Order: sequence, then C-alpha cells, then structure tokens
Amino acid sequence: MFNEENFHLPLLPIRSAAKLLNISVHTLRMYEKEGLIIPFKKESSHRLYSNSDIERLKCIRSAINESKISIAGIKTIYSMIPCYEIVNCTQTERENCSAFKNHSKPCWNFNHKDNPCQTRDCRSCSVYNNYSECGRIKELIQNIISQN
Ligand code: SF4
Repeated sequence: MFNEENFHLPLLPIRSAAKLLNISVHTLRMYEKEGLIIPFKKESSHRLYSNSDIERLKCIRSAINESKISIAGIKTIYSMIPCYEIVNCTQTERENCSAFKNHSKPCWNFNHKDNPCQTRDCRSCSVYNNYSECGRIKELIQNIISQN
C-alpha cells in the first residue's frame, strides 16, 4: 500500500510495472512514445515508475479497454487540463505557447521554447503530477466551471 510520501517516488523497473498492470513492456514503451506518460529515467537510461505512474496507467488502460477511448482521444483529454491556469501563465506567455493553442496533445508533449516551460521539469510539475487519476481531471474541470 502506498502513502503520500512514496506516491511519487520512482521505484518500479519497467518489467515490474508491466507485470503489475498485466501488460507488456512493449505496450508501456508505446504509451511513453505516444507521450501519455513520462517515466523517470536513470542515468543508465533505465526507466522507473512510481505509484503515481501506475495510477495514471490504470486510468489509461481503463479509458482504452472499458470506455473505448483511443490514444488520440486520451491525448485530447489531457490537452484540456488548463496548465496555463495551474502554473499561472501571463497573457503574453499564453500567446507565445503552442500548447495553449493546441487541443490534440498534452502540454508536456511540446518542445517549449521562449516560455517558462522551457526550463520546467514536467515530471515534477503539478500539471503532470496532480492529474494522474481520471477523477482528478473531472474534479478540476468542475472546480473551474463553478468558479466562473
Ligand atoms: S512544465 Fe510541462 S507539464 Fe508543466 S505546464 Fe509546462 S509543459 Fe505542462
């Protein structure tokens, strides 16, 4: 069982993560290539997964298998997370950000230049980290709607 303290710690090698999720290593790599997940990479380039990553992957698997949402659909859902509100981008930063104008992939899929995300580490960013569970994305959108 995990707690808040170890939830984001990269602990599991790729084979263990795949086994826990009952999927192949190839599938896990494909999710990474598609930009759905950013595993922690050791200097040896071996990947490690946290419990937070496992929760994100469970959400992805459930969206694919139970809700029949495609990978492109999941990327669109992630693109709806209002990162610019969460990291407090100014109007000018929004205007210069490709992710702000795009609705087909998550902000962490972009090669950011000339905006604050250029130097941010997506894996430790609250946008990427705090919405690993499907319920959190829905909750976030509901909160934004109720504030307007
Ligand atoms: S640092 Fe990465 S995850 Fe965070 S808002 Fe920027 S692109 Fe998105």
